[in-house]
Amino acid sequence: MSWMLARIVAAVLAMAAGAVVGLVLGAPAHLPIIGTLLGAALGVALLVLIDGVRAQRLLRWLRGAQQGEAPRNAGFWGEIGYRIERSLRLRERSLEEEQTRLAQFLSAIEASPNGVLMLDEHDQIDWCNTVAADHFGLDPLRDRRQRVTNLVRAPAFVACLQSGPYDETLDIPNPRGRGTLSIVLRRYGAGMKLVLSQDITERERAESMRRDFVANVSHEIRTPLTVLSGFIETLSNLPLTEVERKRVLSLMRQQADRMQTLVGDLLTLAQLEGSPRPAADRWVVVDRLFRQVEADARALSAGRHSLKVGEAGGVQLAGNEAELLSALANLVNNAVRYTPEGGSVSVSWVRRADGAGEIEVRDTGIGIAREHLPRLTERFYRVDGSRSRDTGGTGLGLSIVKHVVQRHGGELDIHSEPGQGSRFRLVFPAARVRVAEPAQALGA
Ligand code: ADP
Repeated sequence: MSWMLARIVAAVLAMAAGAVVGLVLGAPAHLPIIGTLLGAALGVALLVLIDGVRAQRLLRWLRGAQQGEAPRNAGFWGEIGYRIERSLRLRERSLEEEQTRLAQFLSAIEASPNGVLMLDEHDQIDWCNTVAADHFGLDPLRDRRQRVTNLVRAPAFVACLQSGPYDETLDIPNPRGRGTLSIVLRRYGAGMKLVLSQDITERERAESMRRDFVANVSHEIRTPLTVLSGFIETLSNLPLTEVERKRVLSLMRQQADRMQTLVGDLLTLAQLEGSPRPAADRWVVVDRLFRQVEADARALSAGRHSLKVGEAGGVQLAGNEAELLSALANLVNNAVRYTPEGGSVSVSWVRRADGAGEIEVRDTGIGIAREHLPRLTERFYRVDGSRSRDTGGTGLGLSIVKHVVQRHGGELDIHSEPGQGSRFRLVFPAARVRVAEPAQALGA
């Protein structure tokens, strides 16, 4: 109340000063009382005028943008101005803090790998992050305040929005076309909705590949197993001659070998997928790989083909010898198996001008039609299933080759013409190729 006392004292002083001046000025005109009263009234009016001017300045500052300081008057008006300004500044600061927090919060949601779409009680878009915009084909700025069902018309999405289920995962076809979205719808606040979305196309693809793989493996194993159990039945129930018994046993061995090869290839694939990339400082002598596959190819061909395995001239490849041998053996094995008698198979080393190196396996065999080429390295993909099985193929060979060469930083290049033969190239980057000094070649 100290300001009130000050106001009363100021009013009394103004009145008194006005009265004294009025008395002094009114006395010569013989109007002392009127002069005193008029003087007192003028004194109070002057005080009110000064107050009015100060209030006007403060009001002008308040009506404006309140930039800069409030008018710094002495006393009552000065304090009012200072307090208003202080409370405005405090409110501005807390608003700024709130806005910073909101911006941080939104950028955290923006960084989420999942889509977040916020809808108001009329299903109008309040906010969405770029992932949700991408999932539903929205524009985060342009589409704000638009009813989402006008923009995303996929029936499954609209039905889910209208009648739930809420808080449950629902898989719907991606509203933009291909793939699948997994969405969860939640209610919050007063009738508002939150749509969380995740693109599960890749996961579904991996899951379907896994299912296909298990089905393929089961099928590949079941066939020889069925044959084997048939032979066991025959052996136990029929009185066979020695010649028949030997024939049955040899057929049983073939089936057992087939299963063994299949399991071997499966294990190789599993190992390739589960182990770290081969070291870049262990050097494998290419000629040694060539000599090993040459021996195996000659045994497999049994003189039916013309076989030419070249020289690599001391070249070494950085990587894992067992893996490289398995890749090359698969290619040479295929070349022999898919080349009719009298055809030729060759293995050679080519150094490219940029330092990269290629192991090339060529044959003059049956070749492969263009439409099969992109799928050849898929597991269990075969152009001619019966020919592959009859010659002991598992359908996993090229898949292993591709894995190996990719793990060595290279690529598998296939060129083939039906009836003309095929050319498979393992291309290795320059960093994994070196020509060894004689001492290194011996030591490797
Ligand atoms: P498979 O064990 O059946 O040979 P691969 O994965 O090694 O399996 O090869 C996949 C398919 O590619 C084969 O089934 C075959 O049809 C075709 N193929 C592979 N190499 C050759 C080749 N050198 N000539 C012709 N066809 C080939």
